[in-house]
Amino acid sequence: MREEEYILKIEHAKERLKKAEDLKELEEIKREYLGKNSFLAQILRSLGKMPPEDRVYWGKLANKWKDELEALWEEAEKRIKINIIQKRLKEEEIDITLPGRRKSIGKLHPLTQVVEDIISVFKEMGFQVVYGPELETDYYNFTALNIPQDHPVRESHDSFYVDKEYLLRTQTSPVQIRVMEKRKPPLRIVAPGKCYRRDFPDATHSPMFFQIEGLAVDYDVSFAELKGVLTIFAHRLFGKDRKVYFIPSYFPFTEPSAEMYVECGICKGEGCKACGNSGVLEILGCGMVHPQVFREVGIDPEIYTGFAFGMGLDRIAMQIYGIEDIRLFYENDLRFLTQF
Ligand SMILES: [Zn+2]
Repeated sequence: MREEEYILKIEHAKERLKKAEDLKELEEIKREYLGKNSFLAQILRSLGKMPPEDRVYWGKLANKWKDELEALWEEAEKRIKINIIQKRLKEEEIDITLPGRRKSIGKLHPLTQVVEDIISVFKEMGFQVVYGPELETDYYNFTALNIPQDHPVRESHDSFYVDKEYLLRTQTSPVQIRVMEKRKPPLRIVAPGKCYRRDFPDATHSPMFFQIEGLAVDYDVSFAELKGVLTIFAHRLFGKDRKVYFIPSYFPFTEPSAEMYVECGICKGEGCKACGNSGVLEILGCGMVHPQVFREVGIDPEIYTGFAFGMGLDRIAMQIYGIEDIRLFYENDLRFLTQF
């Protein structure tokens, strides 16, 4: 082969090296021009058989071409590898201008919030939180609370009886009995939880509702302390300027008994639709623990006295949030729940 043809081939190889786009192509060029069977390798292999002057001439030339191609090949390899990295970086780039995906955060149910607010007020006054079963025996729900066998509230059409003995508790008061059976005074407890009655659901009735029960038993617990504790509670929950009233009432498990009313927050005692024009709202029932209840759990009523109270949380929550229909609390409608 003539020298000009070799030069053309070398020039062609150089062009290819400059334009090469990927490593595979680069390998092919290497095999073709620098490999064992390339014309350069053949020239170098045949040098020994050449006359001395040709050997010097072709040796120099072939090595020069080889060096040039190798240098260009390395350059091309470097360029291609950098391109690969840059391409990858671009593909994997994180677009920080994209808005993040928001996770919706859950909230406490409005009733749970009210329970927690009320509990925290009583905790500060030294009360401990306890829980009792929702499925109760007839004994804990009625008998131990001094509710006689023939009392109308025991009627099966008022309660959800599971069988002859068990029913869904109609009040949180059985928790008092369970605590007094197990522990000795002094006792200061609050017991929040669900209660059940066979009420037809309407704006103010729900067959499932929430109560909080409270109990304090010690040597010198008085009605004055009951009034003091509950007045502090009402002021903490509704505000210090709300007037609080205690009106005599009757419950089988307390003697004397009272109902606590607070001034209506909407009309400030003037009378409005929300309070039935009375200017006040009934918040809870309370009283001094009946001696018969103490005897039932083995606490001597000659030594100890105590007070108890129970309140419907739904009614309080409705007051606080200005809700007119109790059923909204139990329908789990997110449009309602996300407002709190
Ligand atoms: Zn009112």
